[in-house]
Amino acid sequence: MKRVVIIAIILIAFLIGVNEAAAKEEAKRYIGLHDKMLPIENIYVIGGDTKVLLEEISKHLYIDITKDKGTIKLSKHGKEITLNIPADQEAPSAENPLIFSESGKLLISLKYLANQFEFKLEYFPEYRTLRIYRDAYPHISHIEYKEIIKEHIKKQQRTQTTQTTKKPTVYLTFDDGPNQSTLINHATLEKYNVPATFFFLGNQMKQNESIVKTVSKSGHYIGSHSMTHDKALVYNSSESFIAEMAGGAEIAEQLTGKSANLVRVPYGSKPLVTSGMQKSLIARGLKLWDWDVDSNDWRYTDKQAGQIVKNVQDGVTKAAKSGDKDIIILLHDRSQTTIALPRIIEWLQREGYNFKAYEPDNHIIQNFLRDPSL
Ligand SMILES: [Zn+2]
Repeated sequence: MKRVVIIAIILIAFLIGVNEAAAKEEAKRYIGLHDKMLPIENIYVIGGDTKVLLEEISKHLYIDITKDKGTIKLSKHGKEITLNIPADQEAPSAENPLIFSESGKLLISLKYLANQFEFKLEYFPEYRTLRIYRDAYPHISHIEYKEIIKEHIKKQQRTQTTQTTKKPTVYLTFDDGPNQSTLINHATLEKYNVPATFFFLGNQMKQNESIVKTVSKSGHYIGSHSMTHDKALVYNSSESFIAEMAGGAEIAEQLTGKSANLVRVPYGSKPLVTSGMQKSLIARGLKLWDWDVDSNDWRYTDKQAGQIVKNVQDGVTKAAKSGDKDIIILLHDRSQTTIALPRIIEWLQREGYNFKAYEPDNHIIQNFLRDPSL
């Protein structure tokens, strides 16, 4: 006896599941008006009856709506109908011309509305499309209209696939330059036509002015990575910290003539940056980037460059899977990185990622301090 009950429950659960799936499938309908397709997204099929948002469909059919206490008046060309606004809890059914959707908006039966205002409806089951039309209004034949439907559905599917397959943007960032490796990394970026972001050290910029100018002229972004990179000096106090970070930014701005308000602090913001240092950055109008993917390139020798490529591949894949749409990758201007870089770029391009340099007008928040003003 027990077993029979269990089997029955499983069977019922299975049938409910199937029905829900069928209802969802059925809900993917399209609506057209005369020779056009309407840009209506919210279409519900309840008990086989198609319901749409009253406000939305009324605009397309030029029907005026006036609400008055418990009733709603619909009018067009002198024809007027009055409907009772349903109680919130009213169960949706095929008979109710007007019901509330789950999100609290009024839905109306398309068939009912069309009938009331002397529109005709033609259903194309193979395309799950309802065409609203009036005989008195000139329109193409139903056979011709099928082509319009087909084109519309094709377009919708195309935008859907591009939306779901659009790959994240990656930001290659290079710390610790300018130096001789900067020039090699720069040449690689030029070869592959890829923009990037460099965080340079103030003291090295003074000694390598031409490298700074070359990199900037190619359109790459240059930000500050402090003056000295010396942990004891940079993080000694809020004053030393802001002098180090802003000092680098000022030199970059002098050499490039471009804004350099984005900084990357040496060793990352956490746990070294105190709240006082954080405030001094904001007061100075500077932004701070940490990173999403650490290549750990500094750990490896030239011969181990393959490991850097792998670290980037693993990190980027993981970040993309987690839904990150802007992936910032930490690299350095070092010899082993110059060897890894072409393979990193080739892989990212093959996988379809988009490359960008930092855009000051389109700032993306990425700091380990989780500070939205940085
Ligand atoms: Zn560094």
